[in-house]
Amino acid sequence: MDFKKKIIEEAKQLSKYSKILNIKEFNVVLEETSLNYLLDELLKINMPNIYNQESMINLWENYKAQWINFVIKFDNVLVKSVWNDLQLVIDQIIILLNEPADRREMINWKKIKNILLEILSAFKQLRKFFVNNIFTPENIVDSGLSVNQICDFILDKSIGVGAQKVWNVQGAFNPLKRLKNYDFNIEELRVIIRYLTKPPKNEIRTANDWIDLGAKKSPVRIILKSKKTCSESCVYAIFKVSEHRNYERILANNAGTIPCNH
Ligand SMILES: [Zn+2]
Repeated sequence: MDFKKKIIEEAKQLSKYSKILNIKEFNVVLEETSLNYLLDELLKINMPNIYNQESMINLWENYKAQWINFVIKFDNVLVKSVWNDLQLVIDQIIILLNEPADRREMINWKKIKNILLEILSAFKQLRKFFVNNIFTPENIVDSGLSVNQICDFILDKSIGVGAQKVWNVQGAFNPLKRLKNYDFNIEELRVIIRYLTKPPKNEIRTANDWIDLGAKKSPVRIILKSKKTCSESCVYAIFKVSEHRNYERILANNAGTIPCNH
């Protein structure tokens, strides 16, 4: 079994989140070429002569520092728990690299294999947390992400909650522009995500061929086109409480008479 290949594959899967997170260090720790190099050299740790001990120690120290900065910037308890495990492995590698040559050459394959397995399992665990916990509609707002990161998550074409939506780009309140401009606060985003994924039945209405999502106290209203006028996944506009008049004005027109564009 090629553990190195599996680690690289996990890193690739994790990279799907790098656009949303937009944290430099996250890209660095997953970057394929350097990760490949680090792991290749790790596989050669017990070979005589060819080993450039000092530069390898520096590289792993740097790899560790990048992770630490990432964990500081992405302040999330699940990410931290994965890092705690990974840090132990990296520290173990650094200790082994510091061994004198004769002791280093005695490191057996089983030990190297265990290290690779532990790295693999940390990467897998992180991805599991990303998929099942952190980046879910239920948790995303409380995952320690910024408004910008949450907006980018909504719009992300592969993993976003809005991946199945058609985003209208027409009109002053078009949702695409608003999300791209990060024009919402956390509470508004919480409701936007709920409406885009599982809107409560009693907060869905239809009027003038619109689908209207919201309730009296909602911090936002979302209006969708209907099947008849475009598609039920066409998000026409998002309004804040302060824009209630604009919302009423648009809703007073039949959706078929107001053009959308995507
Ligand atoms: Zn449309």
